[in-house]
Amino acid sequence: MSDKKEEKIPSPDEIKNDIENLIKGKYGSGIKFMGFGPGLGGNPQEEAAVEEPVEPAKKFDPNFDLKPKDIKSYLDRYVIKQDEAKKALAIAVCDHYNHVKECMDHPELREEDYSKQNVLLMGPTGVGKTYLVKLIAQMLGVPFVKADATRFTETGYVGANVEDLVKDLVRQSGGDIEAAQFGIVYIDEADKLAAPPNLGGRDVSGRGVQFGLLKLMEETEVDLKSAHDIGSQIQSFMEFQQKGKVEDKVINTRHILFIVSGAFTGILDIIKDRRDHRKIGINSEVKGEGELEADQLLHSAATEDFIKFGFEPEFIGRLPVRVSCEHLTNKDLFKVLTESEGSIIKQYRRSFKSYGITLRFEDEALQEIADQAAKEKTGARALMTVAERALRDYKFELPSLDLKKFIVSKEVIADPSKELDRLLNDKDYLDKLTKYEQIRGFGIEFKSKHGIRIDFTEEAVEKLIAESRAQGKEVGDFLRECFTGYEHGLSLIKQNSGQSEFMFDEALVDQPKKLIEEMIRDSYSQSK
Ligand code: ADP
Repeated sequence: MSDKKEEKIPSPDEIKNDIENLIKGKYGSGIKFMGFGPGLGGNPQEEAAVEEPVEPAKKFDPNFDLKPKDIKSYLDRYVIKQDEAKKALAIAVCDHYNHVKECMDHPELREEDYSKQNVLLMGPTGVGKTYLVKLIAQMLGVPFVKADATRFTETGYVGANVEDLVKDLVRQSGGDIEAAQFGIVYIDEADKLAAPPNLGGRDVSGRGVQFGLLKLMEETEVDLKSAHDIGSQIQSFMEFQQKGKVEDKVINTRHILFIVSGAFTGILDIIKDRRDHRKIGINSEVKGEGELEADQLLHSAATEDFIKFGFEPEFIGRLPVRVSCEHLTNKDLFKVLTESEGSIIKQYRRSFKSYGITLRFEDEALQEIADQAAKEKTGARALMTVAERALRDYKFELPSLDLKKFIVSKEVIADPSKELDRLLNDKDYLDKLTKYEQIRGFGIEFKSKHGIRIDFTEEAVEKLIAESRAQGKEVGDFLRECFTGYEHGLSLIKQNSGQSEFMFDEALVDQPKKLIEEMIRDSYSQSK
């Protein structure tokens, strides 16, 4: 055995930390190390809170020919409610990319005649704002980045610089500047950039960031190398070593679509004031209280409200498409679980399936998840919180049990530990659950083969279980044997009487032949 100490190869993150510490020690915290870029240990998540795109971004298709309704239909598959936002976004996106296409076909086109369709997307948290935009980026195959406005500072020395957003688009596109220039930038919590003048004057930094964003939203060239970004300096150095020169790398923001979003709760009073002041039928239009009223008020926000709220007129002027998303009620949240193609329920089914366990959620369980989530006031985001809270221990325990199917009932969600306790400590309970599932499975199989639904009374279930155990058989197999030869009899009864659903009691287990023959006879007399 060699006693030579094994040399540890540092991970990219460790190298990054060492360089960061070195730079901090030498230059102070004013200079940042932004990582090495894609493939070299750079971590875009850390740098500007960039979320992964739903699918890896491809290049923008120069044959773009989608219509607003195509986009809306796609969004409908995933996003519940938010019809106005879906429509507004679909129109803005089509306008924008049709214009991009036109510019690609006719580079001589001048921009003066066109005002970019940047969007201001308002609404409470967790109601689908980011989701809508992510889905659009996925559908179009363009890169997408998201960052919180609060991370930015005017200079970029303390926080991130707004230009980092554009650099992140390039990172998302794997360094492909051409693909990045047609991307979508999503800036959340933009309402935090505004501070009402009556709170001691506007926040200087927020105002500076507004102007920084304004420049990006209009048109500017962003230098992808930066004196403050040691990562890009190192890359340039490596490029110089390889090629003997460093190419200028800039990206133009003309065709990048900006979506600016936030909850904007602080603007509600301003809108209310204006409307009260002008006496525009606030009573007839704004009915109800709380969330409904907030939805309606946001919907009617006007430019002057945003300026009063603390936005620079030029900034708000660059966001011509304004739309708000609504609160989601518990009924909507139920639909998010049952109707959206992106439902978290699929995710749970998949993760249990990997242990060979089929998961079935009863509707009452899903409604319970939705009801509990609605109380959390964080929109659909709370669905995951509630489901995780209820199912985490099941995720831990069930894979080690001998269980092929598990039904998530309302009780599992309402009192997770009680149900789990029974499962883990009551051997008979687990055994019974497995048997119930086999009986249910037989019913489903029978219905799909013969178009006839069969159910069993509780006593019949008990008897089936006892009898199958006595004969040393699985209850599913025992049932299959019980019914062999009787499918035709039941089909005959269906023909004679139209009856297609049958509930069997213990008599089935005792004397199946006698029981079914009697039923057939009855059906003949009925048909007469
Ligand atoms: P926000 O409005 O704060 O941007 P998100 O769009 O990030 O919220 O929503 C968080 C998650 O909740 C989404 O990824 C999606 O899974 C789910 N979700 C939110 N709203 C809806 C909705 N209206 N329909 C379907 N799923 C939704």
